[in-house]
Amino acid sequence: MVQRVAIIGAGASGLASIKCCLDEGLEPTCFEQSHDIGGLWRFTEAGRISVYRSVITNTSKEMMCFSDFPFPEDFPNYMNHSRLLEYFRMYAERFSLLRYIRFETTVHSVRKCPDFSTTGQWDVFTETDGTVESAVFDAVMVCSGHYAEPHLPLDSFPGIENCFRGQYLHSWEYKDSASFQGKRVLVLGVGNSGGDIAVEISRVAAQVFLSTRSGTWVISRISDHGFPLDMMLTTRFHNCLENFLPSALMRRLRLKKFNTWFDHANYGLIPQKSPNLSLIVNDELPSCILCGAVVVKPNVEEFMESSAVFEDGTVEENIDMVVFATGYTFSFPFLEESVRNIYRSKYALYKYIFPPPLEKPTLAVLGLIELTGSIMAGTELQARWATRVFKGLNQLPPASRLMAEVAKKQQHLIKQGLSNKESKIKMSYIGYMDEIASCVGVKPNVLLLFLKDPKLALEVFFGPCTPCQYRLAGPGKWVGARNTILTQWHRALKPLRTRVINDSSNHSLVFHWLTILGLPALLCAGLLICKYSPQLWFPRVRLGAIPIRKMGFMKGGL
Ligand code: NAP
Repeated sequence: MVQRVAIIGAGASGLASIKCCLDEGLEPTCFEQSHDIGGLWRFTEAGRISVYRSVITNTSKEMMCFSDFPFPEDFPNYMNHSRLLEYFRMYAERFSLLRYIRFETTVHSVRKCPDFSTTGQWDVFTETDGTVESAVFDAVMVCSGHYAEPHLPLDSFPGIENCFRGQYLHSWEYKDSASFQGKRVLVLGVGNSGGDIAVEISRVAAQVFLSTRSGTWVISRISDHGFPLDMMLTTRFHNCLENFLPSALMRRLRLKKFNTWFDHANYGLIPQKSPNLSLIVNDELPSCILCGAVVVKPNVEEFMESSAVFEDGTVEENIDMVVFATGYTFSFPFLEESVRNIYRSKYALYKYIFPPPLEKPTLAVLGLIELTGSIMAGTELQARWATRVFKGLNQLPPASRLMAEVAKKQQHLIKQGLSNKESKIKMSYIGYMDEIASCVGVKPNVLLLFLKDPKLALEVFFGPCTPCQYRLAGPGKWVGARNTILTQWHRALKPLRTRVINDSSNHSLVFHWLTILGLPALLCAGLLICKYSPQLWFPRVRLGAIPIRKMGFMKGGL
């Protein structure tokens, strides 16, 4: 019987894992090699991988909170690293998590015990202040992060090492723009880091060039009428449309929406492959391109002494600095080789968590996912499932079925031409969350909810699919979930209402609905409602504490 669980890393997923272990009556011990919690999100000047100084979350607070611990209502919707760290500290304090963490302790190796096939136990070797210790654990949760090692593809850029005289660095070394003052800078790769860094440097540099092999869609944090975009778009209603409407139509609608802000072809950013999946969040990049502060270029063919030659034959002279914003690779050097080999690709894991061929499901890797929504929320749900599997409350299918499912998934990705390293390629947030939630037994039953609690059901179906939806029923049910969902728009607006003007205008309910959904979307909703829940006619609701007319216009936003 699993009791003692080793958790490696005290970042967001490590904290959630400690909490989930406690919820299931397990005994967690978390090993953190630094002196504090927060992982990547704890900004440090140098020496370890952390976010850069100016980073702002790209999912909003309602969408990224731990499922039973909403952000304080006065926190901004998108926040910097110090606000997020403050939230982690509040979470750790609220659930008394710190006492389970051994700081400044490095995990050197995790090996199967000799009787692993019967016990599923692991030998965990750690080092604290030069003292090496080992202990036996019944299960291990790897929470050391997706971004363990910088990916620096020097081989792909002839001349960078032996010819180029300027300076080059990886984005993990980038902390702020101070050393780029007056320089001509080339940023390689348009992921979220590349976009953010290009924008920030462009404020002080003489010129910034942004080189991309494949292009990307760029979306803003802000939706129409100023609401957080992810709250408006990440809804079960949209998900239904995605699943029911023909994919070609959905793709057209989505691309039309992406190009409404700015035409990606005109700005040189239009993706060449997987056009519907590759996207980054950046509010300022289009404006920097429009103003010429950032110039988009194709991939670099080679570097000369002080210039870069691009694949279209153009040359940019006098390049002083090159920033490789080329992403990260994950690595688990502490795992014994037989296990590490399984983890070469995240797609080799059952539901991106469990290595299928292990005799006992006592090892889980958390956070190896790229979602169209919050990874933090996804990771917490993974932890809820993993701890229940450890405890024997949820069973995994037999190994042959796990392997077959993993193989099927890999085939599907190969067919789509997607490589393992394409981290801009995101899985559907709701699709993945619902899949894991079904395994845990916490996926909300929306149809049943329409019968039992129509007010809540409307918010669950048409409103943002927040993590709290997975606390409404089933194991880990939280009594505060209903109210948290019904008040989410209030918390989103609260930090904005710092100068309140009385608005006495009054709109009809019909107008409110048209405003929220747009006529075409409303028609689709009508069809869906008639199909699944004919008893439900035109609803007389307000979404949470915020009257519907305040919620803006989704314009069939997709
Ligand atoms: P990333 O998303 O993996 O993007 C790296 C980019 O580098 C690729 O998309 C590709 O862009 C380019 N690239 C990779 N290999 C290359 C090669 N061999 N040659 C040329 N170009 C290559 O990495 P990231 O932007 O550092 O982001 C890492 C993670 O952190 C992501 O999950 C991201 O969402 C997250 N992040 C979040 C925030 C935030 O919350 N605000 C900020 C930054 C990062 P091209 O196809 O354009 O060449």
